[in-house]
Amino acid sequence: MNAQEYIKVTQEKWHKQYEAEPEFIQVLDEFLDSVAPVIEEHPEYVEKNILQILAIPERIISFRVPWTDDKGNAQVNTGYRVQFNSALGPYKGGLRFHPTVNQSILKFLGFEQIFKNSLTGQPIGGGKGGADFNPKGKSDNEIMRFCQSFMTELQKYIGPDKDVPAGDIGVGGREIGFLFGQYKKLRGFENGVLTGKPLLYGGSLARTEATGYGAVYFLNEMLQAKNDTIEGKRAIISGAGNVAIYAAEKLQELGGIAISVSDSTGYIIDETGIDVALLRDVKEVRRERLTAYAEAKSTASYFEGSVWDHEIAADLAIPAATQNEVKKTQADQLVKNGVKFISEGANMPLDAPATETLLANDVYIGPAKAANAGGVAVSALEMAQNSQRQSWTFEEVDGMLQDIMKNIFSESKEAASTYGKEDNLIAGANIAGFKKVADAMISQGLV
Ligand code: GLU
Repeated sequence: MNAQEYIKVTQEKWHKQYEAEPEFIQVLDEFLDSVAPVIEEHPEYVEKNILQILAIPERIISFRVPWTDDKGNAQVNTGYRVQFNSALGPYKGGLRFHPTVNQSILKFLGFEQIFKNSLTGQPIGGGKGGADFNPKGKSDNEIMRFCQSFMTELQKYIGPDKDVPAGDIGVGGREIGFLFGQYKKLRGFENGVLTGKPLLYGGSLARTEATGYGAVYFLNEMLQAKNDTIEGKRAIISGAGNVAIYAAEKLQELGGIAISVSDSTGYIIDETGIDVALLRDVKEVRRERLTAYAEAKSTASYFEGSVWDHEIAADLAIPAATQNEVKKTQADQLVKNGVKFISEGANMPLDAPATETLLANDVYIGPAKAANAGGVAVSALEMAQNSQRQSWTFEEVDGMLQDIMKNIFSESKEAASTYGKEDNLIAGANIAGFKKVADAMISQGLV
């Protein structure tokens, strides 16, 4: 079979087989479009059927998570761990607790994670997990009981050299603490089993900031490549979690202005720049809605709906909320607003028609697997510190993060131009991430 036939047959097979998994198909289509020229150049990838093998996770674990709420009622959720690819190292990737979690979402996230982790240059494979549990409105005790039940099952399948989960949407320091405590009770103190831990027992300095800072370091590289800087630029940021908070902080440190943040019901516009200390107090300490931010700051206004529908002059955008948050009409709005650079803080925040529109309008896009790789990169640095039983300073870790983000940018840019996709970092990141994984898989034989 020649490469073109192989690609066609593979795509048809995927569309049929994964009909019920739309997010997974979305990510496979984008990936295939990017790597097609590489497949054409490497007959061994066709011969070894690398694409079809790659798309099937090494294993998916799905399990029952029973827990008791504060009223004494028996509740239950479904937990998952997708152990997608271990060609480059132990499975590595976050856990997401959100009511939308299902197999399609976790397979798309796990697939992305393989190439993201490969791009970091660190020895980590790809995985993802979570549960369809909604942490909103739950008490600390309910969260603790849920995490304990979740880990009672998950601990059978993970370990510091096997699979190392971390946080994602709905899983932060509090949840990692409860998950770690239960793992320790059942298996003993092995701090390399989870990353994103609190500093007191093996967490890394700069891990909390890493995804947001990394997305801005990546954006900075994009701007520099176009002989421009962040200085004085206005950025629309969505989300109000870890990624959005620290992206706003770093952006403003570099002289930019973060003019918005958002949560699931609305958004804040604050043209004087987001007050990061206030935002952290509202979201992380008080765990309140963004309306509390607007009440505390006179320059801020709260609006219902999506920040991507807002008409406002801006140069940059950092979507840092969730998948497919930016649709076609919103991409049109971003073009009208004047946005020229996008760094994806969330995973797959632009849907396919939105991406097409933005590329057609020469918007320079830093795709998630490259732009938000700073989080998992510092997770791998946390694993390294745990193995050494040492902890590095904030400056040391942040310095390594900056180097990693620079490398990811140059590798992605170079891969794009080598394959005639100049300035398309989506294609470049897919290609650069894919080649290492494919070559490692081939060298390890058919396993
Ligand atoms: N959930 C994050 C991501 O999407 C971080 C994963 C990790 O640190 O393992 O990359």
